[in-house]
Amino acid sequence: MSVEEERKRGGISVETEHIFPIIKKWLYSEKEIFLREIVSNACDAVTKLKRLCSLGEVTVDIDPESYRIDVKLDKEAKTLSVRDNGIGMSEEELQKYICSIALSGALDFIQKYEGESENGAENGIIGHFGLGFYSSFMVSDTVEIITKSYTDAPAVKWVCGEDGEYEISEPDEDEKALGRGTTVVMHISSDGEEYLQGYKIREILDKYCSFMPVPIYFDDGEHEDEKESENDGEKSEDKEPEEKPINEVTPLWLKNPSDCTDEEYRDFYHKVFGDWRDPLFWIHISADYPLNFKGILYFPKLNEQYENLEGKIKLYYNQVFVADNIKEVIPEFLLMLRGVLDCPELPLNVSRSYLQNSTYVKKVSQHIVKKVADKLNGMFGNEREKYEGLWDDIKIFVEYGCIRDEKFYERVKDSILLPLTNGKYVTTDEYFGTEASEESEKKAETTEETGGEATETTEEKKPEKIAYYCNDKTAEAHYIDTYVSAGIDVIYLGTVIDNQFISLLEREQNCKFARVDAGIADALKADGEAAHDDKVEALFRRVSGISDLTVQFERLRDASTPTILTEGEDERRMNDMMRIYGMGEGDAPKKYTLTVNLENGLIGQISGDPDGELAEKTAKYLWSLALICQRRLTSDEMKDFISDSCDILGRLYEKN
Ligand code: ADP
Repeated sequence: MSVEEERKRGGISVETEHIFPIIKKWLYSEKEIFLREIVSNACDAVTKLKRLCSLGEVTVDIDPESYRIDVKLDKEAKTLSVRDNGIGMSEEELQKYICSIALSGALDFIQKYEGESENGAENGIIGHFGLGFYSSFMVSDTVEIITKSYTDAPAVKWVCGEDGEYEISEPDEDEKALGRGTTVVMHISSDGEEYLQGYKIREILDKYCSFMPVPIYFDDGEHEDEKESENDGEKSEDKEPEEKPINEVTPLWLKNPSDCTDEEYRDFYHKVFGDWRDPLFWIHISADYPLNFKGILYFPKLNEQYENLEGKIKLYYNQVFVADNIKEVIPEFLLMLRGVLDCPELPLNVSRSYLQNSTYVKKVSQHIVKKVADKLNGMFGNEREKYEGLWDDIKIFVEYGCIRDEKFYERVKDSILLPLTNGKYVTTDEYFGTEASEESEKKAETTEETGGEATETTEEKKPEKIAYYCNDKTAEAHYIDTYVSAGIDVIYLGTVIDNQFISLLEREQNCKFARVDAGIADALKADGEAAHDDKVEALFRRVSGISDLTVQFERLRDASTPTILTEGEDERRMNDMMRIYGMGEGDAPKKYTLTVNLENGLIGQISGDPDGELAEKTAKYLWSLALICQRRLTSDEMKDFISDSCDILGRLYEKN
């Protein structure tokens, strides 16, 4: 074989014997990625030429408006072609860049991972070893390249079969007429037929190429014939049909935030995320060197609690879509948001393990957290009213974020709002009163300082900040009223996550949250001694059917309430947890405490004659009323309650 022949004909030899079957079967779980690879190569080719022009290294006169990429489907010929008018390749370059894929290490890598897993994509082989172009073989049995370098070098044609055998020849005249640039023609194999469907190709282009930097035109091969019949054969050479690129070459995130209008941000959101509602607000991130990434994060509007919680953060690499929701790059809790992130510092095809171990990725993630926190703090500080208006919608993100990421909590802790039952919003400091918090912090410090044994005595005296809350404004209405009329604000915590969130606040802010039905706050108590009455205690134990019911006696400021039933905060939370995690519906009987209000007239009557029949009836009825405020009555309890009520009404008539 002559040297000349050796140069023109060849197999991608030893390596391809291994690589080709792998490319076809194993390389990517998502085959559709081939189009991203080929189109992004075309973009690169244009970008490279543009750069050479701007550096003055290319003297040929190129109209900057003329750069384009054409994706064309030909169902009859069963081909999909991608053409660019970029830098092109000389024969030598073709040999160097396309034919020698035996990059050092690639083979070792393949041998190592061959057969190990089906997740070729996760091992990122394509990106690591410059095999992007070869992904075209996942859907093709033959691939052609017709290319003409921007230099004087003549055009070349390369044809390669799925066995890895290729041939280089001179292109024919039609092909030469294509001029500068590269055309990749993929002869779609029988198992890749879906890629001959126009809608499918359009879908893939929309997914991966919507923001690539060179205008991309898609011709699905359908309208040609229609047009011909419409024009009745009157085809004019220079009359190009109205064309619109499928992509936006300068996506919003690349623009300077100060040049973007609110309308643009909203339009971009509607278009990219298919949500017709307006986002609540957004954060445009433009991180300089060394992080060097850009993006826009949107807080979506949630109509109902928990609806649509699945967010979407799209990751791009130099305007090429990579994937949705890469949790290594975006902190998990922010995956609930929507947004785009363009990270040119990350390789296009990255492995999970790379992402997990990369300090760069960690820094990006931290930067995003910081930006989100800055935005929240900024709104809290400068637009409190607006921020309060948004709070119900954003609290779930903030609370979840705080639970998942302590650093985020640290950053936003002063901007966390607590909604009150009266419709107002307060911070924890505002709720407790800043002085009170400072004082108790000081106390906490001294306790710590004293350390060891000494703490026991001081701890007892340590005033604990208590926040009172409710979970259900209707069911807990009676308790809420009692607190509100005593001048205590009640916080409304209506979601499951709230309960986890308050545990965090308790840990971090040295305070305690108590539900309004968890006990009797000191502020509800009136002055004066409340003596224990054993007989009344026994009576209530009897009528409640709970022999060890805790009965305590108090003097409450609100004399109209005879009895209040409470369930200890910690016990109730434990029961709630058990219920949430499906560990039985609190099979254990609830540990209630019945507080008997000595200020109430009926109680006075009962204690005057605790053994009498009327006392028994009254106590039973009061027990039922207390129970109703706590929970739903069982059917037996309800029957009893109805007959007791009728009985009492009957007695009223008897009296008259
Ligand atoms: P990568 O793009 O990751 O380097 P590829 O296998 O996709 O790997 O491409 C290998 C090389 O082939 C590219 O780096 C480029 O030099 C060349 N190449 C591929 N497509 C084109 C194209 N459309 N125009 C010019 N050169 C190309």
